[in-house]
Amino acid sequence: MSAPVNRTRPYQSYVYAYPHKTAYRPLPDRPSLRELWSAERKDALSLYLHIPFCEVRCGFCNLFTRIGAPDELSTRYLDALDRQATAVRDALGDRDPVRFAAAAFGGGTPTFLTAGELDRLCDIAEKRTGVDLRAVPLSVETSPATATADRLAVLADRGATRLSIGIQSFDDQEARAAVRPQRRADVESALSRIRDARIPVLNIDLIYGIEGQTARSWRRSLDAALAWEPEELYLYPLYVRPLTGLGRRAAGSNQAWDAQRLELYRTGRDHLLTEGYEQVSMRMFRRTGAPAQGADDHACQTDGMIGLGCGARSYTSALHYSFDYAVDMHQVRSIIDDYTATEDFGRAEVGRRIDESEARRRHLLQSLLQAEGMEVEGYRQRFGHHPAHDFGAELERFASLGWLDETAAPDRLRLSAEGLAHSDALGPELFSPAVRAAMAAYEPK
Ligand code: SF4
Repeated sequence: MSAPVNRTRPYQSYVYAYPHKTAYRPLPDRPSLRELWSAERKDALSLYLHIPFCEVRCGFCNLFTRIGAPDELSTRYLDALDRQATAVRDALGDRDPVRFAAAAFGGGTPTFLTAGELDRLCDIAEKRTGVDLRAVPLSVETSPATATADRLAVLADRGATRLSIGIQSFDDQEARAAVRPQRRADVESALSRIRDARIPVLNIDLIYGIEGQTARSWRRSLDAALAWEPEELYLYPLYVRPLTGLGRRAAGSNQAWDAQRLELYRTGRDHLLTEGYEQVSMRMFRRTGAPAQGADDHACQTDGMIGLGCGARSYTSALHYSFDYAVDMHQVRSIIDDYTATEDFGRAEVGRRIDESEARRRHLLQSLLQAEGMEVEGYRQRFGHHPAHDFGAELERFASLGWLDETAAPDRLRLSAEGLAHSDALGPELFSPAVRAAMAAYEPK
């Protein structure tokens, strides 16, 4: 049975992948990648390369990343990536066709790497895994300070189709309050360089719920972003998590903060809808007519994922795996050091098995959190039942809260506008008891 969700707490957690990494555990049998991938389809894989370095640590960030890369660490890291990519491609074998449908460089900040290192990163991806970066959608994350003309030129030349930049706020004071010190003038020059690089899709990330942010200042940030006519915008509610720079926010303000975030969410959503954007999910908005990018849409339920780098996850149909995960700076450093010293990348070390019941949850979760919702027939064909057979109590509850769109066609299970607004409460309610218990038992480090 699901744990009750308090309606007044709409911001519980962001479900961008299920199960969350905090539900992963060391795998005692250390299964070989060759075995894990032997029976998988490999003709439409996603490739993800993770670069765990940033020039500063943003106050809200709980991603796996460290500040800077001293003593040639980036070179050692790329050397290890090269070894890992070689081992993984070897494990995929040549019996079945191995093809990639999408690629992404994420982090951290991939453009923390120099132009020469980015070129090497692309070489590692292409020469070791066989992906043709110019033939698939290639998405790369960047930051204002590292989006330099020489790095952007390399990325454009190697086939980047989407550049995603974390701006968070165009207001210098709000940026400081989120512990991401940056100057508006530097942000504008970075955007200008990105547009000059002519990478087809620009995504801008903004955050709402920052201390001192008002409906007006939020509108000003949205308009400053819209001036660049980005093909995509992600609007993130601010979260304050353990071990991050903002982790000591004053207690007792939760209700007012929830109300502020909900109001700013609605302001942002309504503004973008009137400015010619369509809503793809609670966070994502795409300019009408802009090309979809595949890998970042989280809509694909079945394709395998090859993650390279020490913060990357890989997915087969039966196992999600990665390396150890941490947020605390010392722990992150030691995990990266271990990664760069690794010679044998042929086994999965940390992960979580996905049985059929977890696969059903994942399918429902990741489809339902998209604005277009889920095609019921696709679910039935894959799992043999109507979703109401497997998740009757949960769906009834969502309906009673007004979170399901009752005007949707019978073959479509779709959230209402309120349901989408409450995605971060609804998603966690679909976690299995086992995953919830593992996440609760995880000790942040
Ligand atoms: S939010 Fe992005 S840029 Fe900031 S520390 Fe985290 S990964 Fe780095």
